[in-house]
Amino acid sequence: MTDSSTTGTNKADPNDKTPMTKDEWREKLTAEQFHVTREHGTERAFSHPYHAEKRDGMYRCVCCGAGLFSSETKFDSGTGWPSFTDVAAADTVTKHEDNKFGMRRVDVRCANCEAHLGHVFPDGPASTGLRYCINGCALNLDTGADGDTTG
Ligand SMILES: [Zn+2]
Repeated sequence: MTDSSTTGTNKADPNDKTPMTKDEWREKLTAEQFHVTREHGTERAFSHPYHAEKRDGMYRCVCCGAGLFSSETKFDSGTGWPSFTDVAAADTVTKHEDNKFGMRRVDVRCANCEAHLGHVFPDGPASTGLRYCINGCALNLDTGADGDTTG
């Protein structure tokens, strides 16, 4: 008898973060979201309503849902992209220096899924002096973060 019984192999381990492939992201995201977050694209200025968004809430990663920026740190930079002075928590994003096009810029990514979000510049207002210039389509505003859930 050749009965090789299966010995408890955990296939669906929630702690085993297998990164999604490009094709999987392509299915999950819109073409623009995919281009921005997975191919380091930039949406056109003023193209996304979040640049003028005034509602309170948590801006989450459009790819993985991680809370990235709070509406409390959002300000109107006039650039046509949602702009923030700070991140929601220190470890929610990672920063990578980007020397493309002869400009020294700092690229901001979701720490959880590595989605490209935008860039951070040292010319922001207020205490931080930082301006996180983020693509609206890389974000998903969660206005129900403080309890009031309708539906
Ligand atoms: Zn993410």
